[in-house]
Amino acid sequence: MIPYGRQNISAFDLEAVLETLRSDFLTQGPKVPEFEARVAAYCGVRYAVAVSNATCALHIACLAAGLGPGDSAWTSPNSFVASANCILYCGAKPDFVDIDSRNYNMDPAALEAKLESAAAAGTLPRVIIPVHFSGQPSDMVRIRSLADKYGIAVLEDASHALGASYGDQRIGSCAHSDMAVFSFHPVKMITTGEGGMIVTNRRDLYERLVRLRSHGITKDPAAMDGDSDGPWYYQQMGLGFNYRLTDLQAALGNSQMQRLDAFVSRRRMLAARYDRLLTALPLTVPDRIPGTASSCHLYVIQLHPTGTGRTRRQVFEMLKENGIAANVHYIPIHTQPYYRGLGFRRGDYPMSEAYYENAITLPLYFDLTEAQQDKVVSVLSRALSI
Ligand SMILES: *Cc1c(COP(=O)(O)O)cnc(C)c1O
Repeated sequence: MIPYGRQNISAFDLEAVLETLRSDFLTQGPKVPEFEARVAAYCGVRYAVAVSNATCALHIACLAAGLGPGDSAWTSPNSFVASANCILYCGAKPDFVDIDSRNYNMDPAALEAKLESAAAAGTLPRVIIPVHFSGQPSDMVRIRSLADKYGIAVLEDASHALGASYGDQRIGSCAHSDMAVFSFHPVKMITTGEGGMIVTNRRDLYERLVRLRSHGITKDPAAMDGDSDGPWYYQQMGLGFNYRLTDLQAALGNSQMQRLDAFVSRRRMLAARYDRLLTALPLTVPDRIPGTASSCHLYVIQLHPTGTGRTRRQVFEMLKENGIAANVHYIPIHTQPYYRGLGFRRGDYPMSEAYYENAITLPLYFDLTEAQQDKVVSVLSRALSI
């Protein structure tokens, strides 16, 4: 089977993990701060906080932004459920802004209209969570300026977008946001097995995030209530979690970071090759938005109606019968049974639903060969021709 995504683990990666296994620290040693420094330097941002996965990164980022019961936060329906679940973890109310038909990200025009009605009704959100779907950056200048107008925090779900850029800055620079979150799940741009990171330029958020990651505890005497009892002393100042990343994982992350640029350029080359090979077929390839560079995490196509009358499902199954494990990203979050139970309905975000009906994610990863890619294209051509 050709999967839709796959990690690449080199001999250097193996050696890095083995070296840490033989060292004094399996967790809370030197590898985690090194990994944070590497990602921060790459993105051009001041602070980075490594955590167990991007889901808990989103959770504590929302908490650090002050999200709580009585508040709401808005995200894109075209995302993994974690982008909205993090809002519910804080006891707040999730809501969605429909997507733009060009980049499949949160539509700034829809955001503007929704903010205007929310301002009139007194129901403005505390946080907006744009998602850089497929690695294609959202329209951050417009989203940030709308958020600023109403004093709302912006948290980028950049799970797909390590290595992408917006203007002349990398995603993760937080030039147009308060925080951004990355995922290091094996299908993402680099991997640590499970893993995530929050980046920010704000010292206050950084300090809150570090505390939330580890039980709400501090060991800094200056931050304590009263005097320290001695060098062993710590105080719990709030309710936090154990969301730490291990040194084993960070060692893999450090090694993978050294190949991030190679991962991104290979993916971009393969994506451009798909663009060329698919031109004659009845489908839409990802748009290249001027002023941005996608990390090419996912290669999504939109099928057009064809003379064959084959449905998206039939095309998907033909790919599968031919050894190609395509995927579909994403089932609109608000149509999930759990979210329908919260009052959302099919029809609420029509662009995301129309997009979903015709979407297929084709295989795209570092080790995908041109021969494998040719096979994907040839099976797809057969599925779409009479
Ligand atoms: C993968 C992903 C997440 C969750 O990441 P984990 O590291 O698996 O918790 C969140 N949002 C988006 C958009 C993702 O693709």
